[in-house]
Formats: sequence, C-alpha cells, structure tokens
Amino acid sequence: MALIEFERVFKHYPGSPTAAVNDLNLHIEAGEFLTLLGPSGSGKTTTLMLLAGFEAPSSGSIRLDGASIESLPAHQRNMGVVFQSYSLFPHMTVAENVAFPLSVRKVPATTIAEKVSAALAKVHLENFTHRKPNQLSGGQQQRVALARALVFEPRLVLMDEPLSALDKKLREEMQLEIRRLHRELGVTMVFVTHDQSEAMTLSDRVAVFNQGRIEQLASPQQLYNAPANPFVANFLGDNNMLNCTLAQGIAASEAATPTGVRTGSGQALQARICSGQAMAESSAVKLCVRPEFLQVAPEGAALATPNRLNATLLDLIHQGDHWRLVARLDSVGSNASEAVPQWFAKISPGALPAGLVVGQNLCLGFRPEDAWVF
Ligand code: ADP
Repeated sequence: MALIEFERVFKHYPGSPTAAVNDLNLHIEAGEFLTLLGPSGSGKTTTLMLLAGFEAPSSGSIRLDGASIESLPAHQRNMGVVFQSYSLFPHMTVAENVAFPLSVRKVPATTIAEKVSAALAKVHLENFTHRKPNQLSGGQQQRVALARALVFEPRLVLMDEPLSALDKKLREEMQLEIRRLHRELGVTMVFVTHDQSEAMTLSDRVAVFNQGRIEQLASPQQLYNAPANPFVANFLGDNNMLNCTLAQGIAASEAATPTGVRTGSGQALQARICSGQAMAESSAVKLCVRPEFLQVAPEGAALATPNRLNATLLDLIHQGDHWRLVARLDSVGSNASEAVPQWFAKISPGALPAGLVVGQNLCLGFRPEDAWVF
C-alpha cells in the first residue's frame, strides 16, 4: 500500500470557474522524493495544501496508510512543512524556532534540547543557535525552516518552492543538501517547484502538472527520454517540433517502433511513435527532436543520419560547453497561416563544422530513434 493515496480529488475555490485540482489520482510511496512540477497555476500548491491539511478537498478521498485524513486537522497529520517565505518567528532565536514544534507537542525540555541540537547539526547550523532570523542569510533561514520541519521526525516533509528566493549558486547548494538529507533520513519528501532542472536534480519521481491534472508521473529519466505527450516533452528540457502527418496507419501495439511520417511538403522522415494509440494514415502528428540529438553539416556535405532537413543558418552562439545553432526549416512546407519553423541545435565544440556563416544553407540530421511523434 502506498503511504499517501489521492483518489478522484477535486478542489474548487469559491468563485473560480475552473477546478484548481481536477480529478487527481496520485500515490506517494514511503521513502520516496516526489516532486510536483508544472507551470504557475497548475495546481501544485493546492495539492500540497490538501495533503498538509491547510485546505479541504471539494470531493474525493486522501488516505494516509489507508486511513482517510480529509477531516484530520493539519497539526495531527505529523507532516513537516517548509514554504518559500521562511515563515520563521522573528522574535525567537534559531534554537527556539526549531524547538517550537516540540514545545507545542509538550516534549520534555531535556529531550527538546537534544533534538534541536541534532536537527541543527543536520543542516550545519550548530553555531547559530542564539541568532535571530534577521541575523541570518536567506540560505541559512531556509536551513532553519528545514530543521524545524525535521525536528519532530515527521513521516512526510512537504516543501513548497523552498529555494526560489535564493540566488542560483545557493539554490544549487541547497538542492544537494536536501538530496543528502533525504538519503540520510529516509523520510518521504514531497516538493513543489516550477523549475525543471530542480525537479530533475532532486526527485525519484516527478508528477508533471497542467491545469489541475497530472500529465505524466515518472522518473526524471523516463520523463526526459519518453515523454507521454507534447506538453511534457516541452516542459522538461528543450524540444524542436514540426507538424507532420502519418505515412501509414499504425496499431496501438506499435508504440516506440520507428514509423514513417511526412512533412507538409511531402518529405519522408522516420521517428518513434509515442502515444500507444492506434492512428489512421494521414493523422496530424507532432514530431519532436531534442536539440542535443541534431547533427549539422553544410548543405551538400554527407550526414550519416537517415533523417535530413534543409535549413538556413540564422544564428550561431557560443555557450561555453556547446554551440547553440539556430536554423530556419525552409523546405518543410508549413501552411501559409503558420510561421516557418525555427529549430535549434546544441552542438559540442568538436562536432561543429568549420567556417559556418549566418545565412548559409545547412543540413540538419537526426536518427529515427532520437525523434518522437505524438
Ligand atoms: P501552482 O502551485 O501550480 O502555481 P495553485 O495550486 O497555487 O497552482 O493554483 C491553482 C489554481 O487555483 C490557480 O488558478 C489559482 O489562481 C487558484 N487558486 C489558488 N489558491 C486560491 C485561493 N485561495 N482562492 C481562489 N483561487 C485560488
């Protein structure tokens, strides 16, 4: 049995025409690091608040260890919570802040002192016990909030964008800290972010949210390498897209096998089919290729990949560890109402052909196994 089960959960806020959480089904396994990832307004925070007990579902059931918790007050759920704003008590010292969840639980003073020291050691703040929050940096304040969420040894730690107020370097440092704490403590963590690289760094599994629903729930690797639909393909990592049609009908069982598609101008390409659904010949599909899977050659030069598209080089930008190459696909025959597609490629310095100039004709190549159609 999963530790947490959401079953057919809806949340309608009064006066809002759409559901913030819309028929949500979600299982959270004990010990895992699960991230709720999605654009702003997609229902991530509402889902976390329903789990924490700060909001009640409009309908549906939420279970902890198989027992319904919809009517259990937040303070009886044994969950630690960390928010974006540190929400520390400004008049209390670091030690008093961390002690707070234990004092309200009427834990004896000697035990409190021991547990507070241990929790502060876990987040490397043992030397800051007597400071007030305003004498700490943002990163240190967030460590205090983390220690306060961990000090009563909760079964679940819920975090809502806890690192988004920190600068990039500190954020990446804290991500590694949170990973370490998760590994060392074995506590179940549920983390909300809109930052895909943060989700990929931290998570065992990621639930990709869109309009109050989960589009896909899988490991970061699965989401990246086998996205279930264009939304996920676009939200995680970069993607180039092209409208195509299926060259022949396909059966549901043919998922992941290479199949033929045609561009708007009739050029034949091969790509893996993603949906797992049967589709008729000439169905409209989207072909997706990640920029790191594109190869590039001047027009007329040999490219070994079966798929090749003619393009015009629009820009070439040095990004340190790779070149970002922007190209317009001139020959794909998009209809008059659509802009001519622009793709971009990430090319490692060693693989960049010499002497490329903006405006010249190029060939972009990719392998059928590196392209998906939805
Ligand atoms: P996310 O965390 O993904 O940004 P939220 O769960 O905060 O998304 O919001 C989901 C939707 O619910 C949004 O449309 C938001 O405007 C709406 N919403 C969130 N909180 C409230 C509230 N307290 N009252 C009314 N609408 C809300």
